[in-house]
Amino acid sequence: METHGRSSATPMTEWQPATLIETYKIASDVASLTFRLQEWTAHVPGQHYSIKLTSPNGYSAQRDYSVASSPEQGGKVEFGVKYLEGGEVSPYLHTMKIGQQVELRGPLGGHFTWNTSMQGPLVLVGGGTGVVPLVSMIRHLMRHIDTESTREVILLGSFKSVDYILYHDELEDYAQKHKNFKLIFTLTRETPPWWNGYRSRINRDILKEVFGHLKDQSPLSYVCGPTAFVESVASGLVSLGFDTLSIKTERFG
Ligand SMILES: Cc1cc2nc3c(=O)[nH]c(=O)nc-3n(C[C@H](O)[C@H](O)[C@H](O)COP(=O)(O)OP(=O)(O)OC[C@H]3O[C@@H](n4cnc5c(N)ncnc54)[C@H](O)[C@@H]3O)c2cc1C
Repeated sequence: METHGRSSATPMTEWQPATLIETYKIASDVASLTFRLQEWTAHVPGQHYSIKLTSPNGYSAQRDYSVASSPEQGGKVEFGVKYLEGGEVSPYLHTMKIGQQVELRGPLGGHFTWNTSMQGPLVLVGGGTGVVPLVSMIRHLMRHIDTESTREVILLGSFKSVDYILYHDELEDYAQKHKNFKLIFTLTRETPPWWNGYRSRINRDILKEVFGHLKDQSPLSYVCGPTAFVESVASGLVSLGFDTLSIKTERFG
């Protein structure tokens, strides 16, 4: 596929049209949407884009969405969007058909980012669609697994029930193939009889059991999701002795 690198004449703050090339469900209320960009710039895993919709009468609305794809996937960018009843932007994105366009601006954000040049075990904690930017990090890691097979990486994901787990099969597949990548889920509302994962909101005991052994190994922690979730997990990690400066957070509101 031919792609065009972005030049300095097209700064990341400029809007550009993007065409939907693939969409499918990744969980009960979340759709994956992949757009092709003419002026594509490799993102750093954890970054996001702004998506702008404009109606025929000129009214426009814009929202931020984290990138789910790895930067190695050139020319296109994938998002994982939750359907929010009554929302201005997300319900429309769920009805989009292949070939339709939106406007995109990005990649944006410089704080909540990770790539394989950074040292230390990786602590990833996501609530609902908060897992999306963490999936970008994991996909990036998997593209470099030859040199990354000894780094300990643990994803702790919190969801309402099994049907709400994002990218479930893909993540299980990585966990089965690579023993340095551990996948742990907690379900907060409904658990099937066969469920052997956690069954509550993430609390200090869960954090200690899952991540406690990494405390003195200079881990990098990334916590993403709704504000209350992020604050509770981040303060839980701090109470376990994790260095505040090594904990990065992203709030979806
Ligand atoms: C940096 C960043 C990255 C983000 N990444 C993602 C992502 O990867 N995937 C994703 O789905 N969203 C993501 N979001 C959230 C996204 O930007 C929108 O806020 C969300 O899609 C709702 O937009 P909307 O126009 O559909 O609803 P709105 O019209 O904005 O909201 C409608 C109503 O729902 C309420 N509401 C807003 N958000 C929520 C919520 N999460 N849960 C319950 N009620 C809510 C509002 O208060 C309002 O009353 C991200 C936000 C930020 C800041």
